[in-house]
Amino acid sequence: MKRVSYVVVFLLMMLFPTAVYGVTHARLVMDNVEVTGLDVPPIIVENRVMVPARGVFERVGGRVEWDDSNRRVTVHYGSYIIVMTINDTVAWRNGEPIFMDVPPIIHNNRTLIPLRFPAEAFGFCVDWDSTGRTAIINTNGQTWAPGPGGEHANPPPTNNNPSSNSSSVHIQAQSHPTTSINALLTPSDTGMAAYAIVASSAISDVNHFLLADNRLVVDIYNAVSNIDGPFLAYGPVSGVRSSQFSVSPDVTRVVFDLIGSAGYNISLSYDRRVVTVAFAVNNIYVTPNFNTHSDSLLIRGDILPSVRMSASYPAYLAMYVDNATINSAGVFMQGGAFVSHYEIQQRADGIVYIRMFMRDVWPSFSLSHGTDYVSVSLHGGLNGIRYDTWSRELRISRDVIPGMNIAQVRHNDEYSLNRYTIYLPIAADGLGLGTLHVGDDYINSVTVQRNGFGNAKLVFETSRIVAITIHETATEYIIRVRQPQDVHPIIIVIDPGHGGRDPGAIHHGVVEKDVVLAISHMVAEHLSRHTDIRVYMTRSADEFVELSDRTELANQMADVFVSIHANAVENRPHVSGIETWFMPNSRDNSRGFTSMQLAQIVQRHMVNATGAVDRGIKDYYDFVVLRDLTMPAVLVEVGFLTNAAEAARLATTAHQQQLARAIYEGIIEVLSTYGSRG
Ligand code: ZN
Repeated sequence: MKRVSYVVVFLLMMLFPTAVYGVTHARLVMDNVEVTGLDVPPIIVENRVMVPARGVFERVGGRVEWDDSNRRVTVHYGSYIIVMTINDTVAWRNGEPIFMDVPPIIHNNRTLIPLRFPAEAFGFCVDWDSTGRTAIINTNGQTWAPGPGGEHANPPPTNNNPSSNSSSVHIQAQSHPTTSINALLTPSDTGMAAYAIVASSAISDVNHFLLADNRLVVDIYNAVSNIDGPFLAYGPVSGVRSSQFSVSPDVTRVVFDLIGSAGYNISLSYDRRVVTVAFAVNNIYVTPNFNTHSDSLLIRGDILPSVRMSASYPAYLAMYVDNATINSAGVFMQGGAFVSHYEIQQRADGIVYIRMFMRDVWPSFSLSHGTDYVSVSLHGGLNGIRYDTWSRELRISRDVIPGMNIAQVRHNDEYSLNRYTIYLPIAADGLGLGTLHVGDDYINSVTVQRNGFGNAKLVFETSRIVAITIHETATEYIIRVRQPQDVHPIIIVIDPGHGGRDPGAIHHGVVEKDVVLAISHMVAEHLSRHTDIRVYMTRSADEFVELSDRTELANQMADVFVSIHANAVENRPHVSGIETWFMPNSRDNSRGFTSMQLAQIVQRHMVNATGAVDRGIKDYYDFVVLRDLTMPAVLVEVGFLTNAAEAARLATTAHQQQLARAIYEGIIEVLSTYGSRG
C-alpha cells in the first residue's frame, strides 16, 4: 500500500505542477483570427496552453469574474458557468465537478487557466498545431483541418450520454516509444465519475470494447503495466482489474465490471498520457410525498437510479444514489407521518447521499421502481387499531392481540413532556408499527412502537394532561382517554418553588430550589401510596416553569395545591421557623374546606414534627402563585436559609423527610376530616 501511494503522489506531482519552469510562449488563433494584444501571452505548461481567462473568453462574449479571497475564476458563457480555483484540478461546470489535468495558476501576478478545458466545456473545437505552437479554437465547433505536422485533438469528452452504453470517441493511433502504465486513479482521486489510466509518456493507441455486455475492456497498446489492484469500485463499476494482456506487442488491459447498462466515455488526454474512462452521471430529482399516513420519496433520474439503502436505527434511513448529481442539495424541513425532515448531499465521489430523519417511530420501508425512478416508501402498517374521537377511545381488536392480560399493562405518564406511554405485556406483532394521527383536544397522536424487549408500547402525544384507563370486551381492548378528575377521586398538585435559572434564596451554601424539590418528591411519594390520590408536580426536575403554567396545571383538575418554599430575610440571621401562607377567596372552598383550614392543619403538623419556631399562618392577597387558583391552596415556608442552623438542618435528608411527612399528614388529615370534592 505504501508503494502505491508513493507512486500516486509522484504522478500527481508530475501532472499538477505548481511551479512553472522554462516558460514557452504559444500563439492562439480563434475563429481563424490570431489573438494578439493579450495582457499576458499564452504560455505552455506541461503541454497545456494557459491563457488569461478574461482576454480570451470575453473576446467571444463570455464574462469572467475573479474572486480574490477564494482565488477563484468564474467564466460565464451562454448557459454555462465554469468555476476554477487556483492550483485546484477540480473545476465545476454548472455545479458538476470536472477533472482537469492542469490547474489554473498565478503566473507573473496574472491568473492563467488551461485553455482547452473551458473551451471544450463550452462546446468549442480546440486543436493544437505543434509546429507553430499554436492553439486553434473554433467557437462554432467546426473541426480544424490539420496542416502538415499537426496533431489531432480529441473531441471534448461527452460525459452526459447516460442512455447509451457506448463511447463514440475515436482515438487515432500514433507511433510512440513503449510507455509504462504507472497509475490507475479512481473516482476518489479524480474527484469525478471517472477512472484515469496514467502512462509515463505518450500512448500509441487505445482500443476498447464490451465483453458479455457488462465488462468494459480497455486495451492500451505499446504499454507495459506497472500497476496492480485492487482498485476502488465505484457507482456503476463493481470491480476494476488490470493485467499485462500480451507481450510483444505489449498490451496493458484494464477491465471494468459494470453494473447494468452504465453509459461510459473513453478519451485520451492532449499529451496522450492519460486515458480517462468516464461514466455517465445520472441527473436525479428528489420529490417527497409526505402525508399523515405514509411517506415516500421519489428519486427520478435520466436513467434508473442505482439506490442503496442503509438504516441508522433509530435516527435515519440513508439512501446512496451512485454516480448521480443533483442540483437541489440541502436540508429540507418537510416531514410527514414518519419523516421529520430530510437532507440531500452531493458528494465529491459522485454519490448523492439522502437521509430521511425519523420521528419517534421507526417504520418499515419498501423500494419500488419504474424505468427511470426509484420510490422509497415508509409504512406504518398498523392493523386492528382505531381511535374513536367521539368517545375518546383507542380500540384494538383482539384479533391482533390475542390473550393479553390487561392487569399487566403498565403506564408511564410523562405529563410534563405531554407524553403518556402504555406498555403492553406482549409483542403484539399483529398490531404493526406506526402512528395514528388523532388531533382532538386531548391527543395529538398515538404511536405503536416496540420496547427494548420487543413488546409493544403505545405512545400518546397529548395536548393536555390526561388519564388513561384500559378495559376489555369480548372483541376489543378499549383504552380510554379521560380527564384526570374523571378517573382519580383526589388530585393533589405539589409545587416545588423556583427551579432552573431561578434558584430562589441561596444562603450558607444551601439553595432553595434544591431543598424544596427534594421535599416535594418526598411528599408526592407518600401521597402516591394512596390509590385514590393522584399527584402531579409542577416540576419534577431542576427546570424553570412559569408561575402561570403552574397555576394553569392546577386549575385543570387539582383538589389541593401545596407550594413548597424556603424563607430568607436580609440582615436578621437569628430569625428562623416555619410559616404557611394562604389566600382567602370565594372559590377556595369548593372541595369542602378552605385554604385557611388547610394552612392551619399543615402548619400544625410541620411545627409538631420538627420543633421549629411556629410563625403561624398568614393570609396574603397577592401571592402570584396562589391568587388565580380555584381550589384550596397553601404556600409553606419550611424554614429560613438566612439562619445558619436552620439552613444546615434543611440541607439534611432527615429533616427534609420530617417536613415532607408532616406536610403529607396535614393533607391527609384535611381530606379525611372534610372530604374532598364538593
Ligand atoms: Zn421561594
